[in-house]
Amino acid sequence: MTLPELAAHVIQQFTKTYGRAPRWIAAAPGRVNVIGEHTDYNDGFVLPMAIERYAVMAADSASSSPSSSISIRDTAEGVEPATIDLAAPVKPGKPKWSNYSRGVIAGCLARGISPGGLDVLLHSTVPLGGGLSSSAALEVCTATLLEAVTGQQIDPVEKALLCQQAEHEFAGMPCGIMDQFISVMGRENHLLLLDCRSRQTELVPMNDPSVAILIINTNVKHELSGSEYPTRRKQCEAAAKTLGVPSLRDATADALERVRNKTDEVVYRRARHVIGEIERTLHAAEGIRASNWPTVGQLMYASHYSLRDDYEVSCAELDAVVEIAEGIGIKGGVYGCRMTGGGFGGCAVALVKAEAIDAISREISADYKTKTGIESTLFSSRPAAGATILKG
Ligand code: ADP
Ligand code: MG
Repeated sequence: MTLPELAAHVIQQFTKTYGRAPRWIAAAPGRVNVIGEHTDYNDGFVLPMAIERYAVMAADSASSSPSSSISIRDTAEGVEPATIDLAAPVKPGKPKWSNYSRGVIAGCLARGISPGGLDVLLHSTVPLGGGLSSSAALEVCTATLLEAVTGQQIDPVEKALLCQQAEHEFAGMPCGIMDQFISVMGRENHLLLLDCRSRQTELVPMNDPSVAILIINTNVKHELSGSEYPTRRKQCEAAAKTLGVPSLRDATADALERVRNKTDEVVYRRARHVIGEIERTLHAAEGIRASNWPTVGQLMYASHYSLRDDYEVSCAELDAVVEIAEGIGIKGGVYGCRMTGGGFGGCAVALVKAEAIDAISREISADYKTKTGIESTLFSSRPAAGATILKG
């Protein structure tokens, strides 16, 4: 569904739910990271794009007056509605999913952005928990809705940081800055090169209509002990210490080779991934600017092997997708493919020829099923725009 189609659908659903038309509508996209994995907490670069999947919120002033609460209903079945009382300080509460919105509302209120009582309908086309950042879409959509209602604008960087803070403090997830930045700042036909140290952003044009991004959800999520992420972070810190630099962002491949014999073998490989991945991300941005798709594709494969072998965060299903994609090759329309997101399941991302998308999707889906016995979910997206007010 295009964004205008989605808006029409949500207007209809709002009217059905609340018996009147909405006054405001806001939308914020999910995202896929094209390259730059596990670089964010090493002060490195990431290169995400917003996808044509959105969290949308339609709203009107609360009908029961005087009302000082925000009611949010979800169009998805089985999602418990949320009521957020504005008369008392907004705190984390139930249902659990409402904490993403609660955190944003609390952050807005703290900045004097005060929407008053609202009736809200939420509809999201971002798959939940699939690594495409439905959580940031929900946060950024909430913030954008409050901007629409109050007519007050939040500076984009401040808005992204406010949403990140909501995820940290209300949802208990210590995420980086990528998801919220791209959901706020994405632009149609552009990727976003984000420096996770300085928070500087640069839009990288990708307007060649002959290519597209294909997202393949493995539909698996391996539950690990939970120590994988903190362990990786500690290994990166240990490597930076050995190298005598504040973070791996400041290290080079040569410098790492020089300390190899006094570095633990696993720590060495972790650092080799991060240092190489930061370089690959910058090269990929250059390749995209030059529409040099074979080069970008090779960098994506290199990223995957590095994540698989050095960082050890892939899994059999993600490896299967990449292997199938590589088998199809440029002749079949695939330039490159890699796991995306934290790893151990979730999605892979492929750079493909637009004209071959349907054939490629069919082949990956069939071969993945044969190899793993699992049904995958695939969809393609052009780089989409960041959060917008659709009505207000
Ligand atoms: P991801 O951001 O990759 O989709 P997360 O685990 O970070 O995965 O966020 C998923 C969570 O976000 C869901 O479990 C739910 O709590 C919340 N969420 C996101 N979108 C919605 C929505 N439309 N309705 C209800 N909850 C949502
Ligand atoms: Mg998330």
